[in-house]
Amino acid sequence: ALKGKTALVTGSTSGIGLGIAKTLAQNGANLLLNGFGDVEAAVGQIERLGVKVRHHGADMSRPEEIEALMRFAATEFGGADIVVNNAGIQHVAPVDDFPPEKWDAILAINLSSAFHTTRLAIPGMKARGWGRIVNIASVHGLVASANKSAYVAAKHGLVGLTKAVALETADTAITCNALCPGWVLTPLVRQQIDSRASRSGRDFAAEQKALLLEKQPSGDFVTPEQLGALTLFLCGDAAAQVRGAAWNIDGGWAAQ
Ligand code: NAD
Repeated sequence: ALKGKTALVTGSTSGIGLGIAKTLAQNGANLLLNGFGDVEAAVGQIERLGVKVRHHGADMSRPEEIEALMRFAATEFGGADIVVNNAGIQHVAPVDDFPPEKWDAILAINLSSAFHTTRLAIPGMKARGWGRIVNIASVHGLVASANKSAYVAAKHGLVGLTKAVALETADTAITCNALCPGWVLTPLVRQQIDSRASRSGRDFAAEQKALLLEKQPSGDFVTPEQLGALTLFLCGDAAAQVRGAAWNIDGGWAAQ
């Protein structure tokens, strides 16, 4: 269904981004991957799906590197038709103990990077007459949790950016929406379970269960595959009038 389209997924060497990249590639999209860590493994997984794949290692906290990423998208693929703003980091600490450099990094990677990819992608999308922007926010774009001030502020900001861009593109074939996932068991969340376990002395399984029960009524994790499927839906014709949505996929978290 996405044959001939190119998708840029930021932070797609791991977790949710890699899951979304796989789903889009399985449906025919060419993929521009981004992110750190095991780049080769990520590229290999997409390559095996038979689409064109490239990786660009832009640090999404740096606007000039994002500009280079978008130039790379233009020269390698003729531009990005689908942009999934997924790169993100977390830091957990009370606001009066929150390291200012962590605040700046979270705002830059989780929020400002989406502004930069969006402003740079829209002209090409307009010229080609089609585009999809999917911002991976969080249930923390809708409600807060203690000790996550920067993350909550960035994700609420990302939902706001989503709505503004959706309005500015409302009379075009470009849509902009946000996904608001609850807990997904990725390295970002494993880290939080590990640090809970080291504080409480309980094992990983017990802390995993406690983490889910606190916030996520279903008691089950959301999966990267489910986020891939929802992203794929937003890329399709059936979603042409879904605009500016902040779509929660959270096991009931935000319904409470
Ligand atoms: P992850 O740690 O598994 O993956 C993060 C990805 O971002 C990796 O590919 C990493 O290399 C990349 N990345 C980190 N910093 C970067 C930078 N400066 N420049 C470029 N790439 C960078 O995390 P994840 O859980 O898959 O999270 C992906 C997104 O989903 C994040 O925006 C996160 O906030 C959001 N999210 C996660 C959950 C969850 O429960 N895991 C829930 C809601 C939202």
